[in-house]
Amino acid sequence: MRSEYKLIFERSHEGRRAYDLPELDVPCACGSIPEEYKATAKLDLPELGEVDLVRHYTNLSRRNFGVDNGFYPLGSCTMKYNPKINEELAPMFDEVHPLLDPDMAQGCLHLMRDMESMLCEICGMDAFTLQPAAGAHGELTGLMHIRAYHEHRGDFDRKVIIVPDAAHGTNPASAAMAGFKVKEIKSAPDGGVDLDALREAVGPDTAGLMLTNPSTLGLFEKNIKQIAEIVHNAGGLLYYDGANLNAIMGIVRPGDMGFDVMHINLHKTFSTPHGGGGPGSGPVGVKSHLIPFMPVPRIEEDEENGMLYLDCDKPLSFGKIKSFYGNFGVIVKAYCYIRSLGGKGLKEASENAVLNANYIMHKLRGVYEIPHDRTCMHECVVTPGELMQYGVNTSDIAKALIDRGYHPPTIYFPLIVHEAMMIEPTESESRETLDEFIEAMKDIAEQVKTDAAAIHAAPVTTPVGRPDEVTAARKPVVKYEKPVE
Ligand SMILES: *Cc1c(COP(=O)(O)O)cnc(C)c1O
Repeated sequence: MRSEYKLIFERSHEGRRAYDLPELDVPCACGSIPEEYKATAKLDLPELGEVDLVRHYTNLSRRNFGVDNGFYPLGSCTMKYNPKINEELAPMFDEVHPLLDPDMAQGCLHLMRDMESMLCEICGMDAFTLQPAAGAHGELTGLMHIRAYHEHRGDFDRKVIIVPDAAHGTNPASAAMAGFKVKEIKSAPDGGVDLDALREAVGPDTAGLMLTNPSTLGLFEKNIKQIAEIVHNAGGLLYYDGANLNAIMGIVRPGDMGFDVMHINLHKTFSTPHGGGGPGSGPVGVKSHLIPFMPVPRIEEDEENGMLYLDCDKPLSFGKIKSFYGNFGVIVKAYCYIRSLGGKGLKEASENAVLNANYIMHKLRGVYEIPHDRTCMHECVVTPGELMQYGVNTSDIAKALIDRGYHPPTIYFPLIVHEAMMIEPTESESRETLDEFIEAMKDIAEQVKTDAAAIHAAPVTTPVGRPDEVTAARKPVVKYEKPVE
């Protein structure tokens, strides 16, 4: 193995040091450590010289793939490049303590209130809470509004949330967490909600329907008006999963489509890098009939002195869902993003996100198969199609992309498409980047036909190529064991 790939333990040589301290010229304080706290055995830590240590960590950092060093077309969860300026501005607020008296935090409260009203404007809703800490947390929060609404009306039998099978996987999970039963309905052949199946599914037990739009197929739901009518006529409420708002913002608004409650992901559409495991922010917007049930605290204005304050005195509120005020840093970045783009810029971002996805889909037509071949939104789904006859599947193509310098798209999702590859280029990428990626995808398709063995061997540019996936999952080796000499 090349020494670049060695573990730090494998490079260790007894006695080597990465630092050089002068001799102690004051009395040693080690005598004051009680015996019971002293280590009894030598710690088995790696011992390296400084340059080897620096190279070890530098090389490790270079193995890290991120949106700052390459194209990252992951579908379903927007992983886009965001302007660095938003990152620069958020720390300006980081000395504000959450327990500060509201009269000392008027700037933060104003920023949050302005943010709420901008989101209302973008989404066509009447009020927003910024508290939920993620998309799935927003779903849970939204569903608790639905529950509180029905229960307040004495409608205790509405226990079922209907979820189309093209919904994001968090939707049924959140519905179950909120205490509902989940009824899944199949998609129609065109990928949209099957209206007959929906008519069949609604009834006096319907609490609501959750719609991921665009769906996980990357398609805009064409029958929203009918869906809204069917669900509302049955007494249910409509939930809009707006995690991928970069497909529609500035163009259509969930509130205008008849939705009662929705969430968006600030950490996808509105800046903040997504994918590092947090923090995130999943604000929830509601129509006026759900405002009384919103989580506390709410930001209110004191009519006497015009000061903003946090109000927990909301008798119908279902309570608190997050300590303090949500992930404030994420909210600041989203605020900067929205203010710097403006309404026109946000609309352009959506237009470019949709244009880029359609461009890729169009260029890959005939090379890969497109299961639902109609105009897509911010992402497109393709499959290897006829390439499978060469014994190659989606996973092989993803691995071949790694050797060509790309993070693979989402694969084997959505579940309802066999051998799916879900590609989301996002609005941030240039035409040149898209063209290079398209060339790489075509190059792989060519190599499948001429040299399938090479595709099966990929990736060859990574320290580990193809681990035995079953053993890796069942018996993972996650800790270095020193070989017995
Ligand atoms: C990402 C995503 C979610 C979940 O958001 P998290 O912040 O990861 O919890 C929900 N719905 C859709 C459509 C998404 O893309």
